[in-house]
Amino acid sequence: IKEHYRNDYKMFESSISKDFKSILTMETELRKALKEGQFELHYQPQKNIVTGRIVGVEALLRWNHPKEGFISPGTFIPLAEKTGLILEIGDWVMYEACRQNKQWQDEGYDPIIVGVNLSAKQFHQSDLVERVASILNKTGLQPSHLELEITESMAMSNEEDIIQTLEGLRDLGVYVSIDDFGTGYSSLKYLSRFPVNKLKIDKVFIQNRKQNEAIVKSIIHMSHSLDMKVIAEGVETEEQLTFLKNERCDEMQGFFYSKPLPPKHLNEMFQKQTV
Ligand code: C2E
Ligand code: CA
Ligand code: CA
Ligand code: CA
Repeated sequence: IKEHYRNDYKMFESSISKDFKSILTMETELRKALKEGQFELHYQPQKNIVTGRIVGVEALLRWNHPKEGFISPGTFIPLAEKTGLILEIGDWVMYEACRQNKQWQDEGYDPIIVGVNLSAKQFHQSDLVERVASILNKTGLQPSHLELEITESMAMSNEEDIIQTLEGLRDLGVYVSIDDFGTGYSSLKYLSRFPVNKLKIDKVFIQNRKQNEAIVKSIIHMSHSLDMKVIAEGVETEEQLTFLKNERCDEMQGFFYSKPLPPKHLNEMFQKQTV
């Protein structure tokens, strides 16, 4: 699996600027991509550090462009945000991730949680909670098998509306995590008032772990004292994992265990852990 995906989308990116002559071209191409089914989701497993079992997967969007090959979300999501297309794309992502997770359950694998990234525009839709409920309803996935990832900046502005949305999601029964935690300006005062379930420690702190040891430790301890779970992102080495284990971090995600992969490869991983 690893060999096969070494050749990933980063190789194609150098050619993008030449071919996508303008933002307008890219917008047209994005619309076409949505209509013609060029988007797909890859899933990166998340493991419980103590048991070693896969407890969740994060859905990560891939654009399989007919000429360019796989294009990284970092390239097209900012544009999709600007044009508002992210709302349609985001609905597709949430639907597809829920559908896939339900399918895995129907295939007999142990239930896991699927994590979906929300963009700021999506999070601020006044009918977000209803949209999520409707997608769960259509796909038949239980709310407790969906987690929405929001960033610190999305959570830390415009308090009252945010709390209302977060409470709506909590009442619906879905989980909410704070992505890239530690890179924004979150205030502890807000954090303790927000109904969120998990902090995702940003990969910069894990990768420069030696310099950031104190920060990582304090995020882990803070999560637990606020009754939240904590997951480390971007875990690439055994040394990092051992440190996290010693510090009682709950979960890990990163290349050390697996890159994001197409869904059929996850089936193989689930099978391996049931034997
Ligand atoms: P993110 O949400 O922080 O996702 C984690 C990123 O880190 C992914 O990049 C993943 O491939 C990468 N990663 C995972 N483990 C490792 C590791 O061990 N080392 C390193 N160096 N990187 C690792 P990806 O898939 O390119 O996604 C980039 C960003 O694009 C995501 O960052 C997220 O902000 C955004 N994105 C991806 N899919 C969606 C989506 O469906 N909706 C929205 N709104 N944003 C998305
Ligand atoms: Ca994320
Ligand atoms: Ca992240
Ligand atoms: Ca991010």
